[in-house]
Amino acid sequence: MVRRPRLAVFKFASCDGCQLSLLDAEDELLELCDRVDIAHFAEASSDLQSGPYDVALVEGSITTDEDAARILRVRRDSHFLITIGACATAGGIQALRAWGDLDEWVASVYPRPEFIQTLATSTAIAEHVHVDFELHGCPINHHQLIDVLIAVTEGRRPNVPSHSVCLDCKRRGNVCHVVTRSIACLGPITNSGCGAICPTYNRGCYGCYGPSQPANTSSLLKRFQEFGQRADQLVPLLRSFNAAAPAFRHASDQLAILKD
Ligand code: SF4
Ligand code: SF4
Repeated sequence: MVRRPRLAVFKFASCDGCQLSLLDAEDELLELCDRVDIAHFAEASSDLQSGPYDVALVEGSITTDEDAARILRVRRDSHFLITIGACATAGGIQALRAWGDLDEWVASVYPRPEFIQTLATSTAIAEHVHVDFELHGCPINHHQLIDVLIAVTEGRRPNVPSHSVCLDCKRRGNVCHVVTRSIACLGPITNSGCGAICPTYNRGCYGCYGPSQPANTSSLLKRFQEFGQRADQLVPLLRSFNAAAPAFRHASDQLAILKD
C-alpha cells in the first residue's frame, strides 16, 4: 500500500482565519483526506502526532522568543513547508508595532503588562527559516490552498496565478475605479487571489493579498497624489494586513517622510 503524505498545520501569532479556511473547504476537504494523513492540526483535532511531516502549513508570524525557537523545530520536522496568509508571509497586522510605541500599546491592552514578554517586531516566517512556498491573503483563498496541497502531494509545482488584482477585475467586467472615479485602489500592485472582490463591490482594493511581483508602487502612488490623495491618507492604506511586506513598507516609509 502506498503511504499517504503526512500533513501538519501549525499556528504562530495570528487570528486562526487561514487555518479556518482549510476547514472551510468542506467538500474538497474529504478529497484531501483521501490523499493525506492529517497528523497534526490542533484547530481540528486533539490527536497531535509527532513528526517528521511531509508537508507543513504554517500560519502566523514570529512575535516571541518561544516562536523563534519553535519555528526551527517545525522546519526541522517538515520536508515541504508552506506559509499561509499575511501574518506568516509578511508579519501580519501585528507588524504595525514597528511604527508604534510597543510598551504603550501593551499597557493599553493588558491589565498586567508586566507579564507580557514579546519581541519588538513581528516577522514573517521566511525571515527565520527556509520556506518552500508562500500563499498570500488575509485570509487565504481556500481553493488556492487545496490546489497547492494537491500539487505538492502529486509532486508538481503549485499553479497559483501571479498576476495582479486588476486582471481579475477586468475579467469581471468592472469599470476601473482609479480611472473613472479617482479612487485609490491598490489592485495594480496587489496579488491575485480574491477574484477582485472589493472593486466589484464598489470600493478600492486595500492590498490584503500583499504586493504582486513586480509591484510598481511609486508610479501608482504618484498617480494617486495627482488626483488629490494626500500622503496621510495613503500611508494607512499601505499599512494594513501586509504593512511589513517590503514593497508596501518601503512605499509607506517614503510617504511618511512627506507626511511629516
Ligand atoms: S478598480 Fe482597481 S483592481 Fe479594478 S482595474 Fe481599477 S485599479 Fe485595478
Ligand atoms: S482588499 Fe484587494 S486583495 Fe483584498 S479582498 Fe479586496 S480586492 Fe481582494
